[in-house]
Amino acid sequence: MAIHGSIEGGGTKFVCAIGSSPDDLQAVATIPTTTPEETLSRAISFLSRHGPLDAIGVAMFGPLDLDRSSATYGSVRATPKPGWSGAEIVAPFQEAFGLPIGFDTDVNGAALGEGRWGAGRGLGTFLYVTVGTGIGGGGVIDGRPMHGLIHPEIGHLRIPRHPEDPFPGRCSFHGDCLEGLAAGPALAERWGRPVEDLGEDLDQAVAFEAHALGYAMANLVLTVSPERIILGGGVMHIPGLLDATRRQMVESLGGYVDAPALGDGAAGFLVAPELGDRSGIAGGLVLAERASSGLNR
Ligand code: ZN
Repeated sequence: MAIHGSIEGGGTKFVCAIGSSPDDLQAVATIPTTTPEETLSRAISFLSRHGPLDAIGVAMFGPLDLDRSSATYGSVRATPKPGWSGAEIVAPFQEAFGLPIGFDTDVNGAALGEGRWGAGRGLGTFLYVTVGTGIGGGGVIDGRPMHGLIHPEIGHLRIPRHPEDPFPGRCSFHGDCLEGLAAGPALAERWGRPVEDLGEDLDQAVAFEAHALGYAMANLVLTVSPERIILGGGVMHIPGLLDATRRQMVESLGGYVDAPALGDGAAGFLVAPELGDRSGIAGGLVLAERASSGLNR
């Protein structure tokens, strides 16, 4: 069986693994995200201690240049993350290994991983959205990861504010976009304390959060027409939030989209990830496999 290298490049850590499936990893390492030079050289050093590898997949925080015809393909685009704007990601791996390198966003990677081994199995068109310190989303359309102009930026969807919530949002670009209203840091700022300490405000917090997320999910149903949406990330562990988000999504759609999958309160449509925190590293394996088969888009 072909052995791949997989990198899940996050804003705080890079997870690196070797294997052919998330249940069959031969080695895993976690490297703190510091400068691009230091972080990538440690990742390359880890991969080079194992092998032989047949391909490497990198699922990386963005925004990224994914345009194969671009002179800066394989690099990070302008990002608020200090030191990472313009950082080349694919080139150092290519120079070190001379192997096919798959490259995509962390969320497209997670979608591919869930599609192969998790909650997206057997589906051609589905989305993966994660709600944590930020909100990101990607997906697969007819079996291929979503690209286009750059790549989806689902976290910055514009949605109506809850009429009873005065919180202005905290996105530095948009204020009250989805991420500005509903990511973990927005919740913390909105309520001035951690979710665990919300006490009697928990129901209200879940209602505001589900309002934002439910409208966003409804808009994704209307624009992308996915067969399923996988909704994960640390914030989704708040008790009752996934159910409340389903209800808000169905209510926002107003009965207009007539699809059996949306029946039963959309319980089988808007679902939690099945791979937990392994969907990203699983995605890196799929990206490697796609690259070794010549599928770079
Ligand atoms: Zn925004």
